[in-house]
Amino acid sequence: MASTLTTSNGNPVEDNQNSITAGQFGPILLQDFALIDKLSHFDRERIPERVVHAKGAGAHGYFEVTHDITKYTKAKFLNRVGKRTPLFTRFSTVGGEKGSADTARDPRGFAVKFYTEEGNWDMVGNNTPVFFIRDPIKFPDFIHTQKRNPQTNCGDPDAFWDFISLVPETLHQVTILFSNRGTPDGYRHMHGFSSHTLKLVNEAGETHFVKWHFKCDQGIKNFKAAEAGILASTAPDYATADLFNAIAKGDFPSWSVHIQVMTPKEATTYRWNPFDVTKVWSQKDYPLIPVGKMVLNRNPDNYFAEVEQAAFSPSHMVPGIEASTDRMLQGRLFSYPDTHRHRLGTNYQQIPINVPYNARIANQQRDGFMAVSGNGGAAPNYEPNSFGGAKQTSVSSTYSSFEINALAARHIIQLSDEDFVQPGDLYRLLSAEEKSDLIDNMAGNLKNAKAFLQERQVGHVKRADKEWGARLEAKLKALQSKA
Ligand code: NDP
Repeated sequence: MASTLTTSNGNPVEDNQNSITAGQFGPILLQDFALIDKLSHFDRERIPERVVHAKGAGAHGYFEVTHDITKYTKAKFLNRVGKRTPLFTRFSTVGGEKGSADTARDPRGFAVKFYTEEGNWDMVGNNTPVFFIRDPIKFPDFIHTQKRNPQTNCGDPDAFWDFISLVPETLHQVTILFSNRGTPDGYRHMHGFSSHTLKLVNEAGETHFVKWHFKCDQGIKNFKAAEAGILASTAPDYATADLFNAIAKGDFPSWSVHIQVMTPKEATTYRWNPFDVTKVWSQKDYPLIPVGKMVLNRNPDNYFAEVEQAAFSPSHMVPGIEASTDRMLQGRLFSYPDTHRHRLGTNYQQIPINVPYNARIANQQRDGFMAVSGNGGAAPNYEPNSFGGAKQTSVSSTYSSFEINALAARHIIQLSDEDFVQPGDLYRLLSAEEKSDLIDNMAGNLKNAKAFLQERQVGHVKRADKEWGARLEAKLKALQSKA
C-alpha cells in the first residue's frame, strides 16, 4: 500500500500539484511550507563531487578467508579459514566528472570497505599495480593536467603530455593506461591492486610488507580503443549498468584475493625500492599467496545513500594491517578523509554506509554538523575519565612501532635507468597484437600534443625498449603525414 506523502517534518501533503496562491492568478504565499520545503531541498541536492574518482558504481558483498595467513597478520577478520566479513565496493574512473563516460581511457578505482569486528578496513586501490607518481606533492599538479584547461575548459593533451614527459617516473602506469587494460570491459573484468605496499603485523609483533592483489574470476576483458570510443557515446554508463545487471540476475562477480609478502630485511636489499608505487614486485621473486575470495551479491537500494556517500580511506585500517612508508600512501592517508570531511562533513563516519557496524564505536568526538547517531549520549566527553566513558586499551602492542633515525629533508628520489626497466618488461610481455594496440593507442593520443612533447615522450619510451620507441616514433610520423 502506498504511504501518505508528507513534508520533511512529516505533515501530510494534500496537494502536490498546486501551490498556495492569492487568488487563481495571484502570487504564491510564503506560508506554503510544502512548496518551500520541496524547492529548498531540491536546491541543495548536489554535494561536491569527488575531485578524482567522481564517476563510480558500487555493490555489497562478502569476503571469505580461504587460506590461513595468521602467521603474517593478527587482523581478526582473517583469523579463521571460512570466516566471512561483509563488505562494500566502489569502482570508478578517475579523471572524468560525475557524468563522464565509463569507457574512457583511465585507470579504474577499486575500493573495498571491509566491515570487520575491529572497525572498518578500507582497501583503496586501483585496477593497476602501480601509480603515475611516487610523491603526493606532485598529485594536484598531475590531476590538473588530466582535467580541463583553465582557460578553454577543454581537455588539454599538451598539459597531459607535458607533465607526463617531464615526470618520466609516470611511464610504467602510462604503459598500462595506453594498453588495452586502460579500457576494461566494465568493472567485472579487471583485477584490483592495493598498488601500495602495506605492512602486516602478527600476534607476536612480527612485521611483513605486503601488496594485495584481487584477481578477477571472470577473466580479464578489455575494449579496443574504437569500441570504447563508440560506447562512450552510445552507452556512457556501460560499466555501471553491467555491474548492476549482472548482480540483479544473480551472476555474482568474484575476485580471488592474494598477497605478495616481503620481509623487512629483504626490503632493504630488493632491487627496487619496495615503497615506490611506480614499481611492482616481480611475481617471480614474490609469488602470489592466496588469502580469500571477494563476492559481490547485492546491489545498492539507493545510489546516493550508498555509493555517492561511501567514504573510503587507506587510513581506515585495523590492528594487523598498517601503513608502510610509501610516500604516495602517506599522502593519501591524510587526503582521503580530508576530502570526505569537505564532501560529506566531519561526521561522515556516521552515514549508514560508512558506519563500522561490526565494531562498537565509543569515543569522545562530539558535535559538528549532522551528529546523527546519538552524539555519545550522556557519556563523558573526555578521556581519561572515571565515570564509565570509553577508555584507551592500554595495550601497547596493538600497533607496531618502528625505528626512524634519519635526516629530515626534501629527499630526492633520483630518476634512473631502473625506472625504465619495468615499463619495458611490460611491453615485452605483451602479445604482438597488444603491442600494436599499445602503440596505436599512445600515438593516437600523443599526436594531439605539440611536436617537442611528442619527441620528449618518445625518448622515454626508447629508454624502456628501443623497438617500442622506434615503432611509436614511426607511427607518429605516419599519422602526421596523413594529417
Ligand atoms: P610475471 O610474468 O611473473 O607476471 C606478469 C604479470 O603481468 C602478471 O601479474 C600478469 O597477470 C600481468 N599481465 C599479463 N599480461 C598483462 C597485460 N597485457 N597488461 C598488464 N599486465 C599483464 O612478471 P613480473 O611479475 O616480473 O612482472 C613483469 C611486468 O608485468 C611488470 O614490469 C609489470 O609491468 C607487469 N605486471 C606485474 C605485476 C606484479 O605484481 N608483479 C602485476 C601486473 C602487471 P594477469 O595476466 O593475470 O594480469
